[in-house]
Amino acid sequence: MPPLELQPGSPAMRLNRLEPDELRRRLALFLDIDGTLIDLAATPQSVVVPDTLMIVLRTLELQLDGALALVTGRSLTDVDRLFSTHRFVVGAQHGGEMRGPARQPRQELIFVAALNRLRPRVETILPSWKGLLLEDKGRSIAIHYRQNPGVAYELKTTLHRLIATEADALELLEGKFVFEIKPKNFDKGDVVRALMMVAPFKERVPIFIGDDETDRAGMAASRAHSGCAIRVGDKRDLLADGFLPSPAATRAWLRELSIRFDRGVTAAQ
Ligand SMILES: [Mg+2]
Repeated sequence: MPPLELQPGSPAMRLNRLEPDELRRRLALFLDIDGTLIDLAATPQSVVVPDTLMIVLRTLELQLDGALALVTGRSLTDVDRLFSTHRFVVGAQHGGEMRGPARQPRQELIFVAALNRLRPRVETILPSWKGLLLEDKGRSIAIHYRQNPGVAYELKTTLHRLIATEADALELLEGKFVFEIKPKNFDKGDVVRALMMVAPFKERVPIFIGDDETDRAGMAASRAHSGCAIRVGDKRDLLADGFLPSPAATRAWLRELSIRFDRGVTAAQ
């Protein structure tokens, strides 16, 4: 295998000892895109996806029975533009926008859908008090109560109760004479946790590969699922079980993994 330096005692060492076919049936891959799979470019729009990477990812996805996900800050549309010949499982916008495995499609922004469900319910509670003003900002809803400050506690309690049904996606922010229902901050850990609950990821051992601060939530979530974390580039990351020096090394490592699975499958036949 190409240069993957593992920390002593890492769960990745245990994975390394598995027979290829056993590893193939046990592993789930979570892969950041920019700086991990592909080299950074002057602008996010000018990155290039090598054809060989597309083939390796598609092959690995088949070998892992679908347990491969791209996890990125990019939008889903942007990911599909980059990887135009195949629709992968994607945690886009740090998990705010997800496309799950084939039988569990979730193609809309999670928080937009939640806000749309909640909006009519918020509107029905407004007449309960005088002087409330609803400001719909599209991606958040503000309820101003400056005209009637005495309602603060009761209003807050009611809004908390409403929001509880959408707590995965929305949160309540308190301002001066205003409550705001806004999208929860998602991170890449939310993507790992969400996908590890469903087939074909469920019951597998996740490996998260990333290069950036925003990947660390995904790396931590992967470790929390008895998996491991690989950092591309920065060797000082204490969360990482292993390191790859560059996106080119990640691509080479994934290619070797795929070849190893292929040989393992052939050997078993
Ligand atoms: Mg990155």
